[in-house]
Order: sequence, then structure tokens, then C-alpha cells
Amino acid sequence: MSERVPHVPIDHEEVVVRCGRRSGLTMVVAVHSTALGPALGGVRLWRYATPDDGVRDALRLSRGMTNKAAAAGLDIGGGKGVICAPPDHAWKNGAPGIERRAVMHDFGDLVDSLGGRYVTAEDVGVSAEDMATIAERTPHAVGLPEAGGGAGDPSPYTARGVLAALRACVAHELGTGDLAGLEVVVIGAGHCGGRLARLLAAEGAELVISDVDPAKRRLAAELGAGWVDPADAVTTPCDVLAPCALGGAIDRANADALACRIVCGSANNLLAEEALAERLRERGVLCAPDFVANAGGLISVYRDLRDPGGAEVDRLVEGIGEAISRVLADSDERGVPPLVAAHDLARRRLEAGPAAIAA
Ligand code: NAD
Repeated sequence: MSERVPHVPIDHEEVVVRCGRRSGLTMVVAVHSTALGPALGGVRLWRYATPDDGVRDALRLSRGMTNKAAAAGLDIGGGKGVICAPPDHAWKNGAPGIERRAVMHDFGDLVDSLGGRYVTAEDVGVSAEDMATIAERTPHAVGLPEAGGGAGDPSPYTARGVLAALRACVAHELGTGDLAGLEVVVIGAGHCGGRLARLLAAEGAELVISDVDPAKRRLAAELGAGWVDPADAVTTPCDVLAPCALGGAIDRANADALACRIVCGSANNLLAEEALAERLRERGVLCAPDFVANAGGLISVYRDLRDPGGAEVDRLVEGIGEAISRVLADSDERGVPPLVAAHDLARRRLEAGPAAIAA
């Protein structure tokens, strides 16, 4: 399963593509904006159909990080790293002839060559332990293992932030913050989706889980959740669809067949094209802007960079619910999709500049 990524316009400050000297793998760092501070964003290790697809993914994801940091009120910019794993290789500890450690050292060297303009963290396919390996080559790495005093795995914070966003959407749409009995389909029960499912189950939501990995059926059984095949997940009737796998879950082919009232999940770029935001609004489906809803992980690694206290991190993560409520109110008032209102929120903050300077 190698990913094809559509064309992405370039309005980035800096894009570096390098062939790792140890691993021979193509690696990319895209710095979209440093207007609010150094560009912070995870590195994704994934199989792409071609290295060009990996570059395009870095371009689109880094732009999303600029919006995410700005909308969350953080004084950091947007960037992203991509490591292109060999196509069709089920990557775990390495590929034939390539050690994972060598790959991470190659990426660390690339990050270091940007002199702190880009700060890396973990994303899909990369762990806190990998970050520790990357940090052997550069100081510009956060999200290191908790045992070493780092922020550790960001996904628990991402899941908490998505829950806050989901609750805000439910309050807006159904007039209650009570999630008991709410029917939620979680697509992708990985680090974020699995945790979100646990949080929702604890609140009494009626869950259905979907994953391409059949081993995730165990989690469904443990939580008393139903199971749906990935091919049918997006169109399963429910109150809330929570896409927590890779991007593009909602596309032209399935947008008109959605049978939910709310879409709110952790996946980055959950709409295959932004124009679909208007289509969903016309159909009366509330789609929470992904870069606002899933900012919890970024907030978590931000503390390694800026050192805010734990209470401040909790306040910022819970603040995601308020940010979503503001976006939805603006969207209603102006008759625009929430995604447009969220972009405007981020743009206003980018124009205002870093909080310290603005103050
Ligand atoms: P993960 O790799 O831990 O989990 C992804 C899960 O989705 C896996 O269980 C995988 O088997 C499943 N999956 C893949 N394709 C699928 C499909 N077509 N249908 C159903 N299931 C599928 O990744 P994660 O860290 O949980 O991240 C999930 C999403 O959230 C990504 O889009 C990521 O960019 C985004 N995100 C993650 C974080 C974080 O803190 N980890 C923060 C912000 C955004």
C-alpha cells in the first residue's frame, strides 16, 4: 500500500530533499513558516509510490502545521519531515540492508543542517525511541522518551484534544456535552484512535471501530465496541465519524454518502480536497477542522521547546474545545465552512505575530 499524494502549491520558506548517506533513503524537510517561531512538526516514515509523493506530503503537512500552531496560540512555526521508506516494504526494524538506526541518524543530520529553523518530533511510523536516536545527531528534536525527561508519546494529548473538540461539536450540534449513548465510528485504532476510543468508552459512547489491522479487533472486543470493515467505515450511519487513520478519508467519491452529523478525528488532512468542506456544510454535516482538533500532540511536544508547566499544557489542550466553539460560531455567523473560519483564525494570529512581540 504505497501512498499517492496530489499536487501541492509551494509557498514554503524552505524545502530540503536529501538522499541519506547511510541509508540511501530519500528524506525531506519542508519549512512552511517561521513567522511565529521555529518550524515544529513531526517526521513521518511512510511508504510512498515515488519520492515525489513524499515531497508533496511534506509540503502539504508542513502548511497544516503552520495553521495548527497559529490556531492553538503557540509561538512556533510550521514544518514537517518525511522519510520515504522503500515501496511495498512492511517496515518495522529496518529493510534488507538498511538499519533503522542509520535512517534516524541520516534524518538527524538533515535536521541539524537547518540550524534550528526546523525542530522535529514523532509522527506516523516514528516513535519516541526513534527521536532519541535522531537526538544523537541534533539538539533540534523534541518528544523524546519520558524516561529521559522528554514529553514522550504525544498521542495521549492528541486524543484528549480531539475529545475536547468532539464534545464542542456535539454541544454545538446537539445542545449537550454529554457523550453517553452517542454513536461514534472510530476509523484507525492506532495511537490516537485507540486512545480516543478508550476515552469515549469511558464516557458511555456507543462505539464502532474500524482498522485495516485485524489485530485491532481485540480493542473493539475489550471496549464492547462493534467492528466495521474499512471499506464501509466512512458511510456507516452514526452521530460522529472520527477519522484517526491517514489523510484523505473523505473524498469526492464518498462525501455525499456520509451518514453522520459530525466529522471530528485526529487524522491530518482528513478531507482529500478542501473544497469538500463546503459540500459537507451544504449537506448539514459539521466537519471539525482537523488542524484545530488534533493540536494536542503539538501542544505536548511544545513543552519540550518552550517549557510551559503541566497545568499550562492541560489548559492549552482543553482550550481546543473553546477554539472549536469559536470557529463554529464564526462559521455560522458568516455562512462559511468551519475550515474557512479556522484558516481565518490562523491567519489573524500569523498577522498579529508572536504573543511576546505583539504584547
Ligand atoms: P498510528 O499509525 O498509530 O495509527 C493509525 C491506525 O490507522 C493504525 O492502527 C492503522 O492500522 C490504521 N489504518 C491505516 N489505514 C487505515 C484505513 N484505510 N482504514 C482504517 N484504519 C487504517 O498513527 P497515529 O499516531 O494514531 O496517527 C493517526 C492520524 O492522526 C494521522 O493522520 C496523524 O497524522 C494524525 N495525528 C497524530 C498525532 C499524534 O499525536 N500521533 C497528532 C496529530 C495528528
